[in-house]
Amino acid sequence: MTDHAAQGQATAEDEVVRICQDLIRFDTSNFGDGSGPGERAAAEYAAGLLAEVGLEPELFESAPGRANVVVRLEGADPEAGALVVHGHLDVVPAQKEDWSVDPFAAELKDGLIWGRGAVDMKDMDAMILSVVREMRRTGTRPRRDLVIAMFADEEAGGAYGARWAVDNRPELFDGATEAISEVGGFSAQIGGKRAYLLQTAEKGLGWLSLKTAGRAGHGSQVNDDNAVTRLARAVSRIGDYTWPIEITDTTRWFLDGVTELTGVEFDPENPEILLKELGTVARFVGATLQNTSNPTVLKAGYKDNVIPGTAEARVDTRTLPGQDELVLAKLKELAGDGIEFSYIHQDVSLETPFEGPLVEAMVGALAAEDPDAVVLPYTLSGGTDNKSLSRLGITGYGFAPLRLPGDLDFPAMFHCVDERVPADSLQFGARVLRRLLTSY
Ligand SMILES: [Zn+2]
Repeated sequence: MTDHAAQGQATAEDEVVRICQDLIRFDTSNFGDGSGPGERAAAEYAAGLLAEVGLEPELFESAPGRANVVVRLEGADPEAGALVVHGHLDVVPAQKEDWSVDPFAAELKDGLIWGRGAVDMKDMDAMILSVVREMRRTGTRPRRDLVIAMFADEEAGGAYGARWAVDNRPELFDGATEAISEVGGFSAQIGGKRAYLLQTAEKGLGWLSLKTAGRAGHGSQVNDDNAVTRLARAVSRIGDYTWPIEITDTTRWFLDGVTELTGVEFDPENPEILLKELGTVARFVGATLQNTSNPTVLKAGYKDNVIPGTAEARVDTRTLPGQDELVLAKLKELAGDGIEFSYIHQDVSLETPFEGPLVEAMVGALAAEDPDAVVLPYTLSGGTDNKSLSRLGITGYGFAPLRLPGDLDFPAMFHCVDERVPADSLQFGARVLRRLLTSY
């Protein structure tokens, strides 16, 4: 038993900072090729914290060292669908020499916790664990069943984490209708006011392979069927294409809110004007006004004087909700004849309305802890494990609440050098999450 547990009645606020530090100290770097240390040690620690308050978490591996932890808290109302509250235990790697601190030491410096995962997302993991522990200690039963999950492998698409659990252990999520997790619920300064961004939509993702074949031959001969030339033309047309600005329902809601806060109208001809008003959040929002398709890899040839018979390119596409087909059709048109398209990796886009009882409860929990809070929905340009859970019909939201100082460039903290989070923001988040999970 830890010293801490011996205190018996510690609250979520008392524990959340220490748990976040402990989690950061487990190096769970995910290189995406299986070469990392895995999540096992962190998962055992998380399972231990849950077991300490009388829960019986299940720890299961999708591959050696790739551990996930799931536990269900029974709710008082058996009719209410379960709420999945999930985090991921892996982090992106950190190059120690680039950092001003040891990325896995979790130093508390100037009131902030510094380390890989402080923002993405051992902060929220710690909030979840500390709130559940407090609920157990005080005998607080949630209304709905809560499925608490700590997944492996989010940073590489979840094949050993959420995606694996959904494919192989779907019964863990029986009866679940909604989920909350990362990249939303944090505050940002907009128009001099504090706005919290609740994530209600995610762009889709498609990594495309473009292949073409031509006539191979000697580099000294005339060749009007050169695979490299055809592919290069296709890639440059795709790379040069400017996708039109498109305003989805979520973005419309968001922009209307920003206009209300700043008095500045959105001009589709000149989005920069309003984006400037967003300060640090422009980094998150800019890419959600349009589809994107960026050529990323070119492969062809093996010798200076040999024309290769084939050539391949890769294009990273990020699609607005519901537009996957449309984007693929446009890319095929741009590429022209003789280019074969296939998906290397594809994941769905998500969008859910900014309304309903759970949304109201999240907004209410924020408002109770920060009466000045304005809450706006937004679209995430990346993806989360909510994509995997959506295959079970579970509607996911990004809600990892943090009240942040106005001068912290929070969106820049994800995957960055010197990733850090204010300790008191974490305590605020624990209070908001406790309100949500105990009152809703
Ligand atoms: Zn994350």
